Amino acid sequence: MIRVDGEQARRFVRRTRLAIANIGTRVAAWADPAHREPPRRRSVRPETAEERAIRQYVEAESVDEPDDPVESVELVKRHRVLGESHEIFDVRCKRSRWWVITNLTNLYSQDEFRTADDAFSFHLGLMLRLWERDRVTVDDDARAVSERAWRKYEDAVEAMADANDTEDYQSVGVRLREAMLALVRDESERPWVDDIATRPQAANIKDWLEIFALKITAKRRQRAYLRSIWEKAWDLSVHLQHDSSAVPWDAEVAVNAVNHALETYMYMKIRSGKDEREACPRCSSHRFGPTTDWGEDGELLSWSECSACGYATEAEQTGVMQGV
Ligand SMILES: [Zn+2]
Repeated sequence: MIRVDGEQARRFVRRTRLAIANIGTRVAAWADPAHREPPRRRSVRPETAEERAIRQYVEAESVDEPDDPVESVELVKRHRVLGESHEIFDVRCKRSRWWVITNLTNLYSQDEFRTADDAFSFHLGLMLRLWERDRVTVDDDARAVSERAWRKYEDAVEAMADANDTEDYQSVGVRLREAMLALVRDESERPWVDDIATRPQAANIKDWLEIFALKITAKRRQRAYLRSIWEKAWDLSVHLQHDSSAVPWDAEVAVNAVNHALETYMYMKIRSGKDEREACPRCSSHRFGPTTDWGEDGELLSWSECSACGYATEAEQTGVMQGV
């Protein structure tokens, strides 16, 4: 396992959180008459929606430095690594220059990183360490699918840490079973399964999983995989609960299996909605999505735009700058 460079990762997470927090600050700054002047329109060529998002990101990051405005944003490279796409932008400000790399978006000073490749290598290293660390925890979004299930699962892990003899390992099995049941109970009580004619019994994990899997993904093999890991994890937990010869390793195997079953379910569920990204009606590119900007008269406009071909829907006014 790759060791996390704790301080670096923490700094990165802080910066990311700060960027999110800054969106609020930025809106407040715009509302402040001292910052009221809307950003100038670029004149050389219009920016794409992707470039606009990056400009807005850098502006949010440097909200405390109003004398260093963004002057240009240019997409310089696009890399695909481990199934994830990363774009590298060259961002020139009045007094500074940055590489901004997406997914997760972060910025690197060009004083420290001379070339885009240097910055990208560093960025990837950082991302790998973050992903590695994330394996022991779960995203808040995923956890929210069933908070109860995660708490029960954490109980099982805790019980595992204190376990000394067979009965202790059996009680780990009890908690793992409860974790899986909690998720099924939470999910079966939600409106998304209101249309099911015959509802299986609450404890019928296998039939419920069949129903959930059908709702989560249209991909047959993924459904089969999800059902199968749930069945196996369930069988291991139930067996552990009654296993009079249980040793630490038996509990370990069951804990890992349930972790994987819960996590896979949760990620498949939260991912399922996000895959339905709209395609550009003109060129079918998926680099199409919503974007916003300030208009000439300080009004907030929003529209959808394609960063591949430039196609844009008509802008709608969604707000107005305070005091204008
Ligand atoms: Zn297009």
